Amino acid sequence: MATASATLLLSLALLASAAAASPSSGAGAISRFQEYLRIDTAQPAPDYAAAVAFLRGQASEAGLEARTLELAAGKPLLLLRWPGRRPSLPSILLNSHTDVVPSERQKWDHPPFSAALDEASGRIYARGSQDMKCVGMQYLEAIRRLRSAGFVPDRNIYITFVPDEEIGGHGGVELFVSSKEFKEMNVGLVLDEGLASPGDEYRVFYAERSPWWLTIKAKGAPGHGAKLYDGSAMENLMKSVEAIRRFRTSQFDLVKSGEKAEGDVVSVNFAYLKAGTPTPTGFVMNLQPSEAEVGLDIRIPPSAHVEALERRLVEEWAPSSRNLTFEFKQKMSVLDNFGKPAMTPADSTNPWWLLLEEAVKSAGGKLVSAQRRVPQRNRDIRVHHQGTGHPQR
Ligand SMILES: [Zn+2]
Repeated sequence: MATASATLLLSLALLASAAAASPSSGAGAISRFQEYLRIDTAQPAPDYAAAVAFLRGQASEAGLEARTLELAAGKPLLLLRWPGRRPSLPSILLNSHTDVVPSERQKWDHPPFSAALDEASGRIYARGSQDMKCVGMQYLEAIRRLRSAGFVPDRNIYITFVPDEEIGGHGGVELFVSSKEFKEMNVGLVLDEGLASPGDEYRVFYAERSPWWLTIKAKGAPGHGAKLYDGSAMENLMKSVEAIRRFRTSQFDLVKSGEKAEGDVVSVNFAYLKAGTPTPTGFVMNLQPSEAEVGLDIRIPPSAHVEALERRLVEEWAPSSRNLTFEFKQKMSVLDNFGKPAMTPADSTNPWWLLLEEAVKSAGGKLVSAQRRVPQRNRDIRVHHQGTGHPQR
């Protein structure tokens, strides 16, 4: 079972370099990629119907089985299967999302859905070209070639094209991982989104930080703006802001000194501050308000000491002794459904990792272990982690 996977991964890598070496053989692949890019799947109104119709056509040409699941109304999820010789083995899932983030049309040299190709540099300009339509198309192109070379995988290979990753994945992967279709797939390994590599190294991303969206509210006696007194809402809140800022600095210093990667520290950023008594032209200037509020976007790496952070919140950032209360708008667990940190081991303890490493090396690629880190923003990976736990051995 291990050998078959190695063969597949190796083939994907080899075919990618073969296409680069011989541009004419990749012409069809490039025009198919452009066609996908020209479908406007920008949030908040992605044309999922057109994307799925196009991809179903591609799947049929590649000889893959296709099913469209509509787990949320109007949000089709395309599920493709390349049957393996031994379907009882845990399968491999290759995932990509079909939606893209919006674009400011007037700031683009080429319209964002034109997929303009600059012949001299070979660059293609389009929203979603990296995030992440290129990945989905690379899977399909690699499979096309492997199939035409007569290759049959040992285990089932699934390819999913999912909606709504850019708006949280609730109508996409989140529903999918709890569906009966997903359970029946018996997934052993998922490959999903990372960040594009600016060089020719393969960078591996093996976890995702969990977002905590936190609001802290302060209350205090209102008072005249001319008087100094203890315990105003603003004073209570600003003490918290100072404590949070000190913590933020301590984490950022670890990144600046090179001791930790950005994805390995707890990031804390202020999203909003809300206080004051409004007037039609601004704020009342001689009044200390009775309420004040701050909103924070906190990202927690799977390795973080969560209990310590929660204690810090209760004791330093929002102590009830200073009339502060807090509420989580979102609090994603750093653990998977099996109670372990949602993180794929990227070392020799994980047989899937060894296969990937071996395949990249055999294809002449560079796998830069120092650049293994946690990406900043993939929501679907986190859901997959929480749904599947550690890869099966
Ligand atoms: Zn993405």
